[in-house]
Amino acid sequence: MVSFSPSEEQQMIINMVKEFSTDHLRRVYRECDESGIIPADVIDTAWEFGFISTSIPEEFQGLGEARSSLTGALIAEELAWGDLSIAMHILCPSLVAIPLVEMGTDEQKSKYLPGFCGDRFKAATAALIEPRFDFDPAALSTTARLNGGDYVLNGEKCYVPLAADADLLLVYASENDCTQGFLVEKAATGLEIMEREKNMGIKALATYELSLKDCRVPKGNRLGGEDGCDFGRILNYSRVALSAMAVGVARGAFEYARDYAKERSAFGEPIASRQTIAFMLAEMAIEIDATRLMTWEATWKLDRGEDATKEASLLKSYADEMVLTVTDRAVQILGGHGYIRDHPVELWLRNGRGFATFNGMAIV
Ligand SMILES: Cc1cc2nc3c(=O)[nH]c(=O)nc-3n(C[C@H](O)[C@H](O)[C@H](O)COP(=O)(O)OP(=O)(O)OC[C@H]3O[C@@H](n4cnc5c(N)ncnc54)[C@H](O)[C@@H]3O)c2cc1C
Repeated sequence: MVSFSPSEEQQMIINMVKEFSTDHLRRVYRECDESGIIPADVIDTAWEFGFISTSIPEEFQGLGEARSSLTGALIAEELAWGDLSIAMHILCPSLVAIPLVEMGTDEQKSKYLPGFCGDRFKAATAALIEPRFDFDPAALSTTARLNGGDYVLNGEKCYVPLAADADLLLVYASENDCTQGFLVEKAATGLEIMEREKNMGIKALATYELSLKDCRVPKGNRLGGEDGCDFGRILNYSRVALSAMAVGVARGAFEYARDYAKERSAFGEPIASRQTIAFMLAEMAIEIDATRLMTWEATWKLDRGEDATKEASLLKSYADEMVLTVTDRAVQILGGHGYIRDHPVELWLRNGRGFATFNGMAIV
């Protein structure tokens, strides 16, 4: 039997995160977009919720609750509704923590997981995307070669969030034509973090290119050890989280445009009563709900331990289009006002455009 009702606990989490987003993220997001800086106190307050430490087992100093992709998606939607850049910053450490919890060896878990359970925000990140036109996560140009007791990594990455601050990076590389993850500590020789990137959207999130030149990583830092990792599953988690965030961004834009259309009068009545606007709003609402349901279906399969590659890939492809259409329509509904910075819809359109790039191609 399928249920579409969040559990009592999930509803409590939704309410709590919505309140946090309203009080903190919505208060600073425009300033963050302009300055490129997110106030540390916002990140520290978010860290106190334990979004990441909650699902780390008690033996590694976490709270040891069962991990749920669905709950993760609910949190991601509410945070991204508040602001996408800040949401991505807050959740960035999970790009390392979740693969470690699910696929790390006992040694890797003991060494790295307690770091995610402290009082202060722990910057950690993953490096997947490469600066080339035919980027494919299943056929990476970055290579990993075993040499003595070390892996030697070579390649270039881009769109790596928080790379300059991260103590630990999960670098994906091709090893014998198979994508594997490698835990690279900041001090590793041959790892160079480049200048901060200048992006069209998510301007408050610091992203970087990085280069790996004969970067040596101990053999024991191959994610999952001898068994390696299930990269397809990691990619599916990422697709689902990004899609949930796309729903959050789109929902924010829809709500703003809807309220504006009810207030704004042209030719004697609110523009919301005009069919052109009303139809646009209705279609936006339909698309958002459809994407949310697809997100929930993919998380449901993931939480059952099933292969969700089809669902997550279709979802990501749909979500990329949906968020662009919805945010673009929000700009259109505001007319000339949508194009100026007095209103947030232009920011949401810039942020929404990024989803088709985050993670690379949707269908792989
Ligand atoms: C970069 C830029 C440059 C500009 N340059 C100039 C310029 O040089 N000269 C100038 O005069 N203006 C200029 N404008 C203003 C522009 O012409 C107006 O923005 C435009 O006419 C829309 O008006 P509005 O912003 O008041 O939107 P609104 O009239 O509030 O419209 C909002 C939305 O409602 C829709 N709508 C409104 N009325 C109806 C209706 N009766 N039925 C169905 N839908 C409706 C609109 O299509 C729009 O999607 C510029 C705007 C921009 C962004």
